[in-house]
Amino acid sequence: MLTEKIKALKIEKDAVILAHYYQTGDVQDIADYVGDSLELSRIAAATDKKMIVFCGVNFMAETAKILSPDKKVLLPVEKAGCPMAMMINKKRLEDYRRANPERIVVCYVNSYAEVKALSDVCVTSSNAEKIVKHFRDKKMLYIPDKNLGSYVKKKYNLDMELWPGYCHVHNNLNLADVEKAREEHPDALFLVHPEAPLAVIEQADFVGSTKGIIEYASASDKKRFIIGTEQGILHPLKKNNPDKEFFPLSTRMTCYNMKYTTLEDVYNALLNETHEITIDPEIQKAAKKSLDLMLELS
Ligand code: SF4
Repeated sequence: MLTEKIKALKIEKDAVILAHYYQTGDVQDIADYVGDSLELSRIAAATDKKMIVFCGVNFMAETAKILSPDKKVLLPVEKAGCPMAMMINKKRLEDYRRANPERIVVCYVNSYAEVKALSDVCVTSSNAEKIVKHFRDKKMLYIPDKNLGSYVKKKYNLDMELWPGYCHVHNNLNLADVEKAREEHPDALFLVHPEAPLAVIEQADFVGSTKGIIEYASASDKKRFIIGTEQGILHPLKKNNPDKEFFPLSTRMTCYNMKYTTLEDVYNALLNETHEITIDPEIQKAAKKSLDLMLELS
């Protein structure tokens, strides 16, 4: 069986398998750790394994490599990328920094290494609030997600400029989706990810990262929840809460990049040690500073 072969190869290669909550259920089930960006970053930074197989998209595997430069980090599917991370690049950020030297650049972890390297601090959806509060007296630029940026900007009344990027999965959500879901499930609580538009976030009973949503639903004494984030999260939600019901806010919440990875790809990555992530050492060092500051402040 493929899962048995993966387990055996993992031991032989001294590897750890990490999977994001948005991966398919069978990939989540084969992983040693399933988590959101913050949890997986912490695990990547602390692991004593020689090899990390990152089941997610490329900026996540890059983050693992930045934090653990001496490990071999593999991304099972090379083309698994993040459209939002591609909405900013080094040149455009350099130009912005030159024109606005007074602004602290707060960089969502959903970005590439060369962008992190030009930033002052990274954040994830789990720790963004805590970290921007730390810099609340400073002028800031938030990159690249305008929605998460708008949410923290409004909540803490910050002097913050917003890069016009977005995650298409969450940015697609709208008030009609909320109205319809509330009508269909009037007794359910509505939990949403902060990458959704502000108007949608303002309708929610709880706003949090993927991990935050899982913890909130698991701890709640309510039984029914409308979920406003990528549908991969339904797997751990149902697994951890067999007595509760979860309804996706919309049927459009699929990140195709997150769904590319199959068990076969995980097996092939381990067997052939592909596709290895490499990062220029200067970029790695500079990007690590922004990530280390995030881990220190969160
Ligand atoms: S869910 Fe959105 S932010 Fe996450 S990888 Fe997919 S496109 Fe990027």
